[in-house]
Amino acid sequence: MDIKITEELDNTLKDNGFKQEEILDLIESAESSGTKLKAREGDIAIAKGGSDNLTVYAVYSPDELLDVYAHKMNILGLTGGELSEIDYDDASDWACAKCGEIALERNVDMTYMGVTRPGPGLVCPKCDEFYVSDGVAKTLKTAEAILEEKRA
Ligand SMILES: [Zn+2]
Repeated sequence: MDIKITEELDNTLKDNGFKQEEILDLIESAESSGTKLKAREGDIAIAKGGSDNLTVYAVYSPDELLDVYAHKMNILGLTGGELSEIDYDDASDWACAKCGEIALERNVDMTYMGVTRPGPGLVCPKCDEFYVSDGVAKTLKTAEAILEEKRA
């Protein structure tokens, strides 16, 4: 894969403490492990990687990196513990690359600095993989900052 990174996005990466190589590595390992979401329409994917303390996501097309975002909150699992029947359509625009299942929009429990709260996640019901969209990651960043401030 030959993924371009625009100068503008590279600056955003630097501002957020990410290195280009780190992101390209993340994409490569997501490509080989299948730990990624694929758009149900189009050729965009979201790779997931990082560590226990920071989950990093890279949004990319086959030839260009589109966005990178992260959260420090740790996703524990589905809120309520298991996938229960619901009476609304929770199918997202994404599918799990590993099994092909459509990712569901479900609440997941997220924990940070001893506080656990439910928040909207993207869930593969088969693989038990959890993802967060870029919009939700922005909200999490604010929540993380508030918790960090309280602790300080
Ligand atoms: Zn899956």
